[in-house]
Amino acid sequence: MNVERIVVGPLATNAYLACSGDECVVIDPGDEAAAILKRLGRKGLVAIIATHLHFDHVGAVLELAEATGAPFYAHPADWAIYKELNEVAEEWGFSVPEIPPPKNPGLRVWELDVLHTPGHTPGSISLVGDGVVFTGDTLFHMSVGRTDLPGGDWDALVESVCRLYGLPRGYLVYPGHGPATTIGNEAEGNPFVDASVCDRGVRRNE
Ligand SMILES: [Zn+2]
Ligand SMILES: [Zn+2]
Repeated sequence: MNVERIVVGPLATNAYLACSGDECVVIDPGDEAAAILKRLGRKGLVAIIATHLHFDHVGAVLELAEATGAPFYAHPADWAIYKELNEVAEEWGFSVPEIPPPKNPGLRVWELDVLHTPGHTPGSISLVGDGVVFTGDTLFHMSVGRTDLPGGDWDALVESVCRLYGLPRGYLVYPGHGPATTIGNEAEGNPFVDASVCDRGVRRNE
């Protein structure tokens, strides 16, 4: 799997184009559909996936879906409160993008396993490929997602980050904002969720 990062929109969201051969998926196309389509070139887009439904991760979904016909996937727990999730966007002066009703990603989309990792939002997911994990706004390089927005839950976030720490340490982490990291780096040095918290009996449900 080949991964390209495209930084888009006013909040510098990482959109990722993940390709195998001539097939690609786009993860978190927050803005700049034209730039994403240009990078896609002649390859086929087989899915559009949002790690969660904050406005800065979905701004180009409708345009990409219309241009390519690719299905759109996001967790139903976020879709159920789409308006509420993005109330703050309007307060910040951003409009809430119109998006097509998402399909439930279930446990796997294309070559990616889907992990439900709530906390930043109730429907946040992480996508696990061969040696890589896309973590949305759940886990960043030396940081984690905020939980003070509608639907946020700190305890759930910690549990989700602990699940991610259970992945192999060499796995590359591609977050929703900022630079890539590895599971090992974060498990050892993330100042917000220390891996020792996880060993002390945080529930790990599969
Ligand atoms: Zn977010
Ligand atoms: Zn974000």
